[in-house]
Amino acid sequence: MEYRYSRRYYRSEFSVDPPEKSGREIMSKGSSGMEVILASLENCRDVQTTLNILYILTELLSVGRGHRVEVFVSKGGTGILFQILIAASKESPPSMELMLHLHSLLAKVGPKDRRFGMKARLSGALNVTVSLIRQNLQNTKLLLPCLHVLRVYSSNLVNAMSLGKIEGVELMFKIIGPYSKKNTTLLKVALDALGALLKSKTNARRAVDGGYVAVLLSLYQDWHRNDTRCRHILIRKGLLVCLRNITNIKLGRKAFIDADGMRILHNSSTECLPVRTLDPLVNTSSLIMRKCFPKNRLPLPTMKSAFQFQLPHIPAGGPVAQLYSHPPGVDDVVDDSDDNEEAEADTDTENDEDEKDNYMLNDDIETDLNKLYPKRSLCRPFEELKVYERFFLELSEDFQGYTLKGPKSTNSMPLSASPSSLSASARSSRPVTVPTAQTQPPNDIPTPRSQGDCNSTKGHETRPSSSALKLTPSPPVTPLDLDNIHLSKDKDKKEEASSPPDGDKVIEKELVSPFECVSLEEKEDLNADGSERVRREGSPINATRHIQSPLLLGGIPTLRVGSGGSNFGSDCGSEGADEEGGEGAVLEVPDTARLLPLHNPDLYVEMVKETCSVPRYAEVAYPDYFGHVAPTFKEPLLERLYGVQRSKIFQDIERLIHPNDILDKVVYDLDIPNCPLVKDEGESLKFNSQFESGNLRKAIQARKYEYDLVLNADINSNHYHQWFYFEVSGMRVGVTYRFNIINCEKSNSQFNYGMQVLMYSVQEAISGRPCWVRTGTDICYYKNYFARSSIAAGGQKGKSYYTLTFSMSFSHKDDVCYFAYHYPYTFSTLKMHLSKLEDLRTPQIYLRQDVLCETLGGNHCPLLTITAMPESKSSNHIYQFRNRPLIFLSARVHPGETNASWVMKGTLEFLMGTSTLAASLREAYIFKIVPMLNPDGVINGNHRCSLSGEDLNRQWQNPNPELHPTIYHTKSLLQYLAHIQRAPLVFCDYHGHSRKKNVFMYGCSLKETVWQSNISATSSDLQEDLGYRTLPKILSEIAPAFSMASSSFVVERSKESTARVVVWREIGVQRSYTMESTLCGCDQGKYKGFQIGTRELEEMGAQFCVALLRLKRLIGFRNHQHGWDLDNDVIAIPAKTVSSSPSTYVMEEDEPSFLEAIDYSAESNDEDAEPENELADEAQENLDQLSD
Ligand SMILES: [Zn+2]
Repeated sequence: MEYRYSRRYYRSEFSVDPPEKSGREIMSKGSSGMEVILASLENCRDVQTTLNILYILTELLSVGRGHRVEVFVSKGGTGILFQILIAASKESPPSMELMLHLHSLLAKVGPKDRRFGMKARLSGALNVTVSLIRQNLQNTKLLLPCLHVLRVYSSNLVNAMSLGKIEGVELMFKIIGPYSKKNTTLLKVALDALGALLKSKTNARRAVDGGYVAVLLSLYQDWHRNDTRCRHILIRKGLLVCLRNITNIKLGRKAFIDADGMRILHNSSTECLPVRTLDPLVNTSSLIMRKCFPKNRLPLPTMKSAFQFQLPHIPAGGPVAQLYSHPPGVDDVVDDSDDNEEAEADTDTENDEDEKDNYMLNDDIETDLNKLYPKRSLCRPFEELKVYERFFLELSEDFQGYTLKGPKSTNSMPLSASPSSLSASARSSRPVTVPTAQTQPPNDIPTPRSQGDCNSTKGHETRPSSSALKLTPSPPVTPLDLDNIHLSKDKDKKEEASSPPDGDKVIEKELVSPFECVSLEEKEDLNADGSERVRREGSPINATRHIQSPLLLGGIPTLRVGSGGSNFGSDCGSEGADEEGGEGAVLEVPDTARLLPLHNPDLYVEMVKETCSVPRYAEVAYPDYFGHVAPTFKEPLLERLYGVQRSKIFQDIERLIHPNDILDKVVYDLDIPNCPLVKDEGESLKFNSQFESGNLRKAIQARKYEYDLVLNADINSNHYHQWFYFEVSGMRVGVTYRFNIINCEKSNSQFNYGMQVLMYSVQEAISGRPCWVRTGTDICYYKNYFARSSIAAGGQKGKSYYTLTFSMSFSHKDDVCYFAYHYPYTFSTLKMHLSKLEDLRTPQIYLRQDVLCETLGGNHCPLLTITAMPESKSSNHIYQFRNRPLIFLSARVHPGETNASWVMKGTLEFLMGTSTLAASLREAYIFKIVPMLNPDGVINGNHRCSLSGEDLNRQWQNPNPELHPTIYHTKSLLQYLAHIQRAPLVFCDYHGHSRKKNVFMYGCSLKETVWQSNISATSSDLQEDLGYRTLPKILSEIAPAFSMASSSFVVERSKESTARVVVWREIGVQRSYTMESTLCGCDQGKYKGFQIGTRELEEMGAQFCVALLRLKRLIGFRNHQHGWDLDNDVIAIPAKTVSSSPSTYVMEEDEPSFLEAIDYSAESNDEDAEPENELADEAQENLDQLSD
């Protein structure tokens, strides 16, 4: 804001207009009629002649569409009028008629003269007009033009301050009160002038000190009561604008609350609601009330995550060290905005952040050419990288142990001959010498699928693990067998019952926390609501559909979150003895085998058992267990109903006005050991989030059917709240529940533009419809009254939180439903899918699964290699096999971007498919894939970070092997490849995008960056291949969700440590991309108007593969190190289009600044509304330029 205002000052105070000519010059030949009149006026010495000329001028300027006024201004007319005004004011007594006419004319020309305010101030006219008003309060005829002029003066902020000093504010209050319907025109103008004066903070302060807030409120009530026919909306609006401006300062907000402003505006607005024409009043009232609503801290003991993970070391000065060194009370919130009233910057506090965003926008383009040029110096000695050789067996494979069949062979090779199960002895036969790009032949190749050390490595290794993923499913264990259920109260039974599924690992955990070694606990058979527990049997028996929550795992040592040693089970009020047998409820598992070939509930549970979470979850969410079948129906973007946000905000405000209506009952709380807290009396919903990827920290029943939900921060962090995934049960049918997630952080969300939350109903699932569906009505996203101190925010901007609200009526009694931000995709799901991928292997497919490394949390990060087996063992074929270009893909570095995993699933399934396209693709490339770069974040329900509390996609420049192992080793793989001259042809990291529609790509281009940053001088010298545009161009042609217009190839400073930029710059991969998929939906192409689903996301993943095949055909296949020029021939990009197209520049790779103005008055039909926000117009412009 300061910047903007100072620029305006600059413009108004110092810009140079043509010098105003003297009278003599004007009288000379060639002068226009206007010049003649002005010269006469200036030289006129008697009142009557001056008046005559003024009459003429008034006549002249009243005709036409303002062109004459412009001429008048440009010829220096305003200055002459001020001169006469000053001169006339010195007469005693001044001629009232002259004053009247002068002000009438000034009122006419003022709005057309950019420098009117400055001219008035410098000439001394402000004082003249004010004292004239003061002396003529009863002289309506004179008062009106003077007020008009004053209104124009006041629109200049410096003038407003000067006028304040000569008691202009107090003067206006004399005119606007007390209530009277006489002279409403006058009143309206005075209110406008007052509103403008009050934009100055010192004036606002003056008004507060004078007790005028109460005066304004009482006047507003008078008008509200008496203007029954709504004839004076503008006056009522004028009063509100004054209140709005006063409440920009903290003292003003306090005075408003003290004067009972909340109740007054709430009641009057409620009465205005039915009349649509009164919307401007309701909207402005709502804005004022929201601003004045006392800021509060979140209802949490601390904003730090409910879970903490002990890092191997905490770098001093890093985010985690900072987090845990916060002074006590840092979370406390004070309303500290606008304390600095000296600064007359007069910002509109509501929009500070947006201003900064916009300012940053231009700032973020990398302009340092040294940072744009490739930096390929290998920082690490090859000796160190050599260990990564083991992940590239295919580059030296000689296949002598194989019986290879050509792709056309129908005789399928036994699985045992596939590379993954190749035994070391089979390898030892005489090697065939095959030329290879690799510098040294590998010696002592580790067996790719050596099993067995899944559990051996503890601690955090800095070297890549040579072990392979354990993919063969363990011997089947019936996961939900009630025989394994024992009540927690009986400790002996517990130990007896705990049957470790996984040897050493479990034993180790038992030693760590013996008390929690409960095999499995269940609630008693019949709860108050009559629900029965889950049982899975061989065949569905009857239609009983009572579902028990939670779904627990057998045989896993468990620890309930937040329990200071207490085990879970004690929480549910499960006192009654319940032995196995009994009348076990029946859970029908939907038969999804046909629909979901890569899903297997039993296998899923096996995978969960090997997944290490920080809270040591022992429950499985039904949706992950049953699986998700994409619905066949389309899910359009939700149309926003008129007035939704407003009515939600009014409900929020009512909490302050009618505090007795608020229950404020905590029904779920991770910070309290025996969570959930509710002794179920059927009065409250039950919540749960204690399963993989779950995120819900607290649930508070605010009203009977309304819940405030608080999300948990990422582990070792105190923010990044966005992802949610939780379970709800105990619902009633036929009522509408309102849910508010109250600690969102983004300043805007696609929830305001058609996106719905996802819900999974277990009743629906067991009725044969196991799917996540877009659901919820009355969805909106807006700034609320919860805030955090800027220290707690780590110096970040953004003190307020945002509410995502949605309403929901459930269709089934005794249902267990899940809500999620987006389609969940857990790490265990990934492991299950990877295991099932093995089933898709054919003799022609080379598929290898390695463990890249162990994560901080003790999980194995998988690495896949997919290509085609060589056609034969001939040197030529093996040469071709080894020398295929590499494609390097990764996904899910950001846990909350689950859509990236669905896209990756589509890619993997396509690559393993039987289509000829897939076969050609495998023959063309070697695929190296890290499908989940941040397993720990995914498992623990983080939104953005890993366990180190850091965004892993900001660590690529200098990843720490201990703290960022997956990034460190992935980067090492790439460095290794670069070193052996086999850098990948394409690198792509899959992401999700929360604030834009469609799927699009970010790439890196030196030239486009330079163009955007306007360093035009050097750009002509830059040489750059346009090949980076080929792949996104192809995608925009073949993938319906993909939008080239949203793609960008600019390198931003804030992105210098992302995968895309580092792989481009340090590894030298020209085609290095981030592919962003919307979380919401599309606004172009075949899916325009629809929300995106897993089917479309998986299709995107498959289309990405098809595009790679087309890329191969386009660039030819002579030698993948050379010959890229072909790209340029095929897809010529006219440079001009690129540089002039603003859509090629989008600020942030991951979450670009969303330029849509925050939707406070989204439903406003308010024609005379001043923009609440200086930027509104600009934002709108930008909006038009951006795809969204
Ligand atoms: Zn991302």
